[in-house]
Amino acid sequence: MTGERLPWDKLSALYPQLVRALQDRTGPSPWHALLLVGPGGIGKRRMVELLAQALLCTNSTHKPCGECTACQRVADGIHGNLLSLAPLPREKTIKIDPTRRVLDALSLHPLEQSLRIVTIPQMELMTEQAQNAVLKSLEEPDPNTVFLLTTDNERALLPTVRSRCRLMRLAPWPQDETASYLVSEGVPTQEAAEWARLSDGRPLDAQRLAQDPHTRDLMQLIDRTWMGLRTREDIPAASAALKGSKEDADLLLHLLEARISVLIGQNIEQVGDIPGWDTAPALRLRRVQEKVFEARQYLASNVSWQGVADRLLIHIAKEIHQCPV
Ligand SMILES: [Zn+2]
Repeated sequence: MTGERLPWDKLSALYPQLVRALQDRTGPSPWHALLLVGPGGIGKRRMVELLAQALLCTNSTHKPCGECTACQRVADGIHGNLLSLAPLPREKTIKIDPTRRVLDALSLHPLEQSLRIVTIPQMELMTEQAQNAVLKSLEEPDPNTVFLLTTDNERALLPTVRSRCRLMRLAPWPQDETASYLVSEGVPTQEAAEWARLSDGRPLDAQRLAQDPHTRDLMQLIDRTWMGLRTREDIPAASAALKGSKEDADLLLHLLEARISVLIGQNIEQVGDIPGWDTAPALRLRRVQEKVFEARQYLASNVSWQGVADRLLIHIAKEIHQCPV
């Protein structure tokens, strides 16, 4: 369970076992610290919250019930037996003083009769001194305390800390599962496929993008310009509309690339009504996609945004709408 990178569905299936392993405080080797490692935006913190709820839930048959006072307090971050460590406001690291305060609180009598849980959601942000303080607690574990730790970057952790934890490495989500998740969160199907493609298997990042008003504006700009082109005569207006978007150039090209990738993977009924694009053969879509890749390289080598944007408009007019150029 320690070396491989678990895909999310496998972890979900393992969840009941994890809960049981963490609940067993009297066996020969109780778990004192679980460390979830994996890219940001895949749901590690949500998993930690679910584990904390399961461990503190007072429902006797179904844990976590999500409804008892304990479950709700965990969700609100106010359960007396749940301690959490994050950077203080305006600080980028987790320093020794707040760490000591949490560890000192562990030596006090617990407020509620149950396990005590310490969560550290971005452990890579801990200073070495703070990590060493936690290490002491991990080396001389209290039988009724469990550390639930997550990190995007395990190399930022002291090897001695890592070696004291049960380590689980998590893989990004498959694209289709990311898309299904987004649809379940109310994102339209076509868009969900695009955000899933763009997010590299990080559904929570995809959701953030999908629900961010600024990226939605950029998607509409793409619809009006590169995707909305009909004839060569539309190019000057589209060019003018893209002119002011230099600051978002990189994101715009990423979004356009994702749109085209999704179109390539779909059949005509799924594409919907996008004149030119809905009937263009995959070969032509791929050529445009290559031009988008090229455009990103041009941008990186300081070719002007307007030049890059216009070049793409001309290629799209030629490849998708068969305009003579
Ligand atoms: Zn509950």
